[in-house]
Amino acid sequence: MKPNEIDLHKELKKYFGFSQFKGLQEQVVNSIISGNNTFVIMPTGGGKSLCYQLPALVLNGTAIVVSPLIALMKNQVDAIRSISSENGIAHVLNSSLTKTEVNQVKSDIKAGITKLLYVAPESLTKEEYIQFLQEVELSFVAIDEAHCISEWGHDFRPEYRNLKNIIKQLGDIPIIGLTATATPKVQEDILKNLDMPDANTFKASFNRPNLFYEVRPKTKNIEGDIIRFIKQNKGKSGVIYCLSRKKVEEIAQLLQVNGISAVPYHAGLDAKTRAKHQDMFLMEDVEVVVATIAFGMGIDKPDVRFVIHHDIPKSLESYYQETGRAGRDGGEGHCLAYYSYKDIEKLEKFMTGKPVAEQEIGYALLQEVVAYAETSMSRRKYLLHYFGESFDEINGEGADMDDNMRNPKNKVEAQDEVKL
Ligand code: ADP
Ligand code: MG
Repeated sequence: MKPNEIDLHKELKKYFGFSQFKGLQEQVVNSIISGNNTFVIMPTGGGKSLCYQLPALVLNGTAIVVSPLIALMKNQVDAIRSISSENGIAHVLNSSLTKTEVNQVKSDIKAGITKLLYVAPESLTKEEYIQFLQEVELSFVAIDEAHCISEWGHDFRPEYRNLKNIIKQLGDIPIIGLTATATPKVQEDILKNLDMPDANTFKASFNRPNLFYEVRPKTKNIEGDIIRFIKQNKGKSGVIYCLSRKKVEEIAQLLQVNGISAVPYHAGLDAKTRAKHQDMFLMEDVEVVVATIAFGMGIDKPDVRFVIHHDIPKSLESYYQETGRAGRDGGEGHCLAYYSYKDIEKLEKFMTGKPVAEQEIGYALLQEVVAYAETSMSRRKYLLHYFGESFDEINGEGADMDDNMRNPKNKVEAQDEVKL
């Protein structure tokens, strides 16, 4: 079909069952089917996948989707296959495929059946694949989680840096970059690295008006404070993030002893226990998960009512991602972080021994965390400003939803806290 002949709403309904686009999706889809380089910045859950899946389904040729995690790719391929009678409509190309499987993928692409081809960045470097892809019709290349390109991102992948070179070899095809990382630094890096200064850029707001942000000084009484907070929120689901596995176990036990149903979650537990604890949380057999950052990737419980940071995270992006797991359903979400400068020093210590460039970035990111924690201004404004977004702290949506705006403190109080 030619782009101007496509009835996008009809295709949206047909393939995904939705009657409306969400946010900027329609504009993004239009940009892609018109053959433009396109850059999409939307928070997690914003609906980025559809932005490239729908164009891929309606355009001629195969779209290549680069994604960093095999599990994510498999999920998406399964989802696409479930909406089509044609199994070959989507494929994953990676090193685990047998020769026969690779041949099947290739023949489906040649036959024009495959609309979406998911590849890990390291597979895309294989000469055999590059040669094959040079000979077939491609619609565009989508680079999901595009922040992996940037050292300023939270998930830098060196293989992502080479993508532009490979894509160039495949011909003159549009590139679509997508990310939930909103910092201007990372965005600049992405556009520069993909060499697409002309890209149509679509950025959704990162404001989460239903989340209440609060920072409390971390004192010796933190444990009692957390227990009190949870008891005041009885029956509600929450996540407590800790820096270390040891702390996770300690806090989970502490809560249990105090009559709160809680389970630990961290990468040191075996896969079966982790899955069990995650399920218990999703099924509401427990109220609280105490976790390291290993918990959360792909967690989508809509009614998480609070996220507590026992330890302050290493960047405001991590903080935003982790607090963002609260209130997905649009209902209340209390984000409570405990802060002490000692914890910042601890995080700094983790960085010693790393390459200098990485250390410098790490320190700069930490300084932003410090400034956020110590600020007496609107936390929402601070956070959104960090993401390159302006916010009206008086009339903006969710303007009174933080500790500083609810109970403005005077400068002296603010300084006292900092000294703790
Ligand atoms: P992201 O990659 O931005 O984090 P996803 O692509 O995973 O987000 O989409 C998040 C959720 O939004 C999914 O459950 C998806 O089905 C849903 N979604 C996407 N587009 C629409 C739409 N137009 N209408 C309703 N739900 C949508
Ligand atoms: Mg996504």
